[in-house]
Amino acid sequence: MKDLILKKFNESSRFLNPIKEFMEDEQEIEIRVDPVIGIISRINMNRVLRPKQKIDELKYSCDYCPFCPDNIERDTPKFTREYFEEGRIKVGGAMVFPNLFPLAELHGVCVFTPKHKLNIIEIDENEIFDGLRASMEFFLIGRRKNLLYHFLGWNHLSSAGASILHPHFQLICSRVGLNYERIIFEASERYWKEKGKSYWRELMKDEERYIGESEGITWIAPWAPMGNFEVIGISTEGISSIMRSNALRGIASGIVKILKAFWSLGIRSINMGVFSYPEQKEWFSFHIRIIARSDSPNDRGFLEIFCGEIGVLAPPEIYSKYIRNFFK
Ligand SMILES: [Zn+2]
Repeated sequence: MKDLILKKFNESSRFLNPIKEFMEDEQEIEIRVDPVIGIISRINMNRVLRPKQKIDELKYSCDYCPFCPDNIERDTPKFTREYFEEGRIKVGGAMVFPNLFPLAELHGVCVFTPKHKLNIIEIDENEIFDGLRASMEFFLIGRRKNLLYHFLGWNHLSSAGASILHPHFQLICSRVGLNYERIIFEASERYWKEKGKSYWRELMKDEERYIGESEGITWIAPWAPMGNFEVIGISTEGISSIMRSNALRGIASGIVKILKAFWSLGIRSINMGVFSYPEQKEWFSFHIRIIARSDSPNDRGFLEIFCGEIGVLAPPEIYSKYIRNFFK
């Protein structure tokens, strides 16, 4: 190992910590890069302290949830003045605050509804819309701090990796983009240079796996899904950054239709990610990826974790036709 240059760097995240009577707190995140293979790991030892909600305990009642209205103001962190004067971003029913156990310098949580909704079928368009608008405010903080890349992720339920079950997005601002984002950006630019056209615009023309449209977004199933029942929503106009788009309403309405389709297939937990490039580029259209997760058994095994390949159940040509009905 001594011949290898083991690269690592640190980010520190500062926020007002509710556990310490809202005193300013700082957590270190160590980011390690594998010297040959390029795998990136983010380590924050504080994360072992994360509270974990179990679904059985909360299915019918909500004894304690830090994101429910009675607790959220008391038990979630606030931004320091340097980041956001008012402490927390509030837009409609959505609220954004710093992650108590961050994995990046600027890692936010967006609780997009005050309601403790565990069933994806109950989540409505306005809730997602408020959440997206509040998230854009958070990404503006990142832009002011020169953290230009912005990722929006959603893990719904513990089988999808959520520790708190109350629906929420996670928001990460970064200087150079996260690892897989960078792979996608590079591949998109390479395709543009080789073929003179945008891969994302090509993808939207795919009739076989086409699902439907919502305002500003074209929804398709990908040829090679990254997870079960994956749906991708692509900016119809070829906008590169979600921050420059006026399709937030269309994103929200499309997501809700997909959640309804998933629910009818017996799907209860999901992952979602928004891939967005900070500047307008011909070669990149921002897009949303949504996949279904299975509750039991866990659907991530050696193939997904160690081999970087993904085992899925249904071919996209089949499930896209089913989900298409929810866009009519
Ligand atoms: Zn709750």
